[in-house]
Amino acid sequence: MAVALVTGASRGIGAAIAASLADAGFDVAVGYARDADGAAATVDAVTARGRAAAAVGGDQADPGAAAAMVAAAEDALGPLDALVLNAGITRDGLMMRMSDDDWQAVIDTNLSGAFYVARAALRGMMKRRAGSIVAVSSVVGITGNAGQVNYAAAKAGMVGMTKSLAREVGSRGVRVNAVAPGYIATDMTAGLGDDLRDGIVAATPLGRLGTPQDVAGVVAFLCSPQAAFMTGTVVNVDGGLSM
Ligand code: NAD
Repeated sequence: MAVALVTGASRGIGAAIAASLADAGFDVAVGYARDADGAAATVDAVTARGRAAAAVGGDQADPGAAAAMVAAAEDALGPLDALVLNAGITRDGLMMRMSDDDWQAVIDTNLSGAFYVARAALRGMMKRRAGSIVAVSSVVGITGNAGQVNYAAAKAGMVGMTKSLAREVGSRGVRVNAVAPGYIATDMTAGLGDDLRDGIVAATPLGRLGTPQDVAGVVAFLCSPQAAFMTGTVVNVDGGLSM
């Protein structure tokens, strides 16, 4: 029985990833920060697909809470075969006006948080000589984006972490990959103005924003045996935006 932990699965892309992993046969631990109701809805979506699920809460920017989230997932469902580092936040603003708090919160949550969760999950995966870790980076970690120095730095950092960790643990049977989504229609992007949205759609060869399911299918593939010879890769899921 395969088990996955998806961080930030109370809504958006994470919730879609949890459902896709359940469709692929995984029991799923549903990570969340504060939205217990959202996490419960994702748990219901997983169980409706005939798989076991458990909600595991905690602020991943806190190393102890991140480790506790992994421990709670393994206590509830068993050893992790897959880990999806999906939780993330934005605190946008031009650099000249960006506060220390807005810089630090995004680095702490998106980059350090991913590190804390992955480190906690790694020991078991290495011992069992099997596992797949997928980091949810972003197109802006590759291209940069005005108004997002904090977010782009964290997402680029996840790419460096993915590739370095892939080199560290490949010989122990653990694969580490990243996806770099373009603009996906979720609560995170709901606040984009119409002009910005239209500009992004015009610059995207496929001519639309992505859906959470567009990202989820690729993540589920990277967690599956079909991707057994893939590690250290960054898969763009952006409708062609970054090419
Ligand atoms: P979202 O805001 O809808 O969901 C974010 C999730 O992260 C929530 O479940 C929340 O509980 C969790 N989270 C936030 N802070 C946390 C913390 N401190 N500890 C634990 N969990 C925490 O976002 P989304 O649009 O679904 O994005 C999911 C991921 O995909 C993020 O990493 C985001 O940066 C990335 N991404 C999104 C887009 C997009 O266009 N929406 C594009 C590229 C990458």
